Amino acid sequence: MEVTNNIPFNKPYLTGKETHYIYQAVSSGKISGDGVFTKKCHQFFEEKYGFKKCLLTTSCTDALEMAAILLDIAPGDEVIIPSFTFVSTPNAFVLRGAKVVFVDSYANNPNIDASAIEALITTKTKAIVPVHYAGVSCDMDMIMAIAKKHNLFVVEDAAQAIDSYYKGRPLGSIGHMAAFSFHETKNIISGEGGMLVINDESFMKRAEIIREKGTNRSAFFRGEVDKYGWVDVGSSFLPSDIIAAFLYAQLENIETIQQRRKILWERYYNNLKPLQQKGTLAFPALPEYASNNAHIAYIVCNSLAERQQLIEELKKEGIMAVFHYLSLHKSPYYQQLHDGRVLPHSDHFSDCLLRLPLYYELTEQEVDKISAIIVRYYEN
Ligand SMILES: *Cc1c(COP(=O)(O)O)cnc(C)c1O
Repeated sequence: MEVTNNIPFNKPYLTGKETHYIYQAVSSGKISGDGVFTKKCHQFFEEKYGFKKCLLTTSCTDALEMAAILLDIAPGDEVIIPSFTFVSTPNAFVLRGAKVVFVDSYANNPNIDASAIEALITTKTKAIVPVHYAGVSCDMDMIMAIAKKHNLFVVEDAAQAIDSYYKGRPLGSIGHMAAFSFHETKNIISGEGGMLVINDESFMKRAEIIREKGTNRSAFFRGEVDKYGWVDVGSSFLPSDIIAAFLYAQLENIETIQQRRKILWERYYNNLKPLQQKGTLAFPALPEYASNNAHIAYIVCNSLAERQQLIEELKKEGIMAVFHYLSLHKSPYYQQLHDGRVLPHSDHFSDCLLRLPLYYELTEQEVDKISAIIVRYYEN
C-alpha cells in the first residue's frame, strides 16, 4: 500500500452501497430519469425534511436555472443576490436576461446582509436569492418578511445546506423554492447532482414540465393525461437513475456522515479557539437562529498576504487548504454591469477566508496536525 502524508482538501466518501445500488438500477432495465431510485430519493427528502415537492436535477446549477424559468425571469427584471457566492447563483438568472443587484455580506459572517436588502428593491425586482454559506442559515424571517411586503419570490441557494436548520426549520423548506447540490465537494454527493425543492404549490405542475423538455410526460406516466406533447418551454434537467442510485446510498447514511463531519469541525474549533480568543484570527459567527451542518471548516485571516503565507506553510507539510469566492460584483464578467456600490465585507472574505480540509475520512490526528501548523504560524 502506498503510504502518503499528504492531506487533500476534499475526498469523496463512499458509504459502501453505491455500486451495489447502481448495479440494481442497471439490472432493473430502466436507467433513464425518474426510475425507482429517483423516487426513493424524492420520498426520503419529502419525509425527512418536509419539503413539499422534490425533483432531482443534474446539478444545483440546473435547479437554479429551473427556478429562474419558473419565475418567468425576463430581460429587465432584477434579482437580489449576495456577491460572495458561486457563479451559478447569479448566472441562472443572468441567462434569462435579469440584472443582478449584488448585496454585501455581514462583517462577521459571509451570508447576505438581510438588513441591506430592502433599500435595493425597485419596481423591477422579482426575487431574492439568499445563499446559506457553509450551511449556515441566512436571516430567513427577515428575508421572508421583506419578500412578502414587496411581493417578491425567495429562492434559497441551499447548495451547501443539506440537513441544516433555521430556528429548527430545515433549510430549503422556507423559501418558495430551494436548490441543493450533490457535487462531490458537498456533504452528501453523487459526483454531479442537484435537487429543486418546491414549497409553493403554484409552481409544482409546471416544474415537472420544465424538467422534462417542456413536455407533460410526467403526468402521462401517472395516467393523468392520455397523450403527452410539447406544452411549455423546458430542457433536460433530470438525472439518470444511476446517479439517483448512488445518491440513495449516501442518504441512507446521512446521520453518520453529518455526525462525523461535526466531530471534525468541533475539533478544529476547539484547537483554534485560543487564537480567536487572543484576536489573532476570526472564526465564523454562528447566529443563534442557525445550526451548523459542518459543511466548511474555515478561518478568516487578517490579510491576503497572511492567507497566502498560511497556504504555503500548510502546503510545505502536504496539506491542501483553499479559498473561494472572488466577489462577483468585481468579476471580469460582471464588473461593468455592477452599479458601483462598494461591498467591503464580501471583498474581505474574498481576500482572507481560508478553507481547511474537511471530509469523512479525515482523522482526528490530521485535524490536530493542521491546527498545530496554524497555531505555530501565528505564534511566530
Ligand atoms: C456548489 C454550489 C453551487 C453549484 O452546485 P452544482 O451542483 O455544482 O451545480 C451553487 N451554489 C453554491 C452556493 C454552491 O456551493
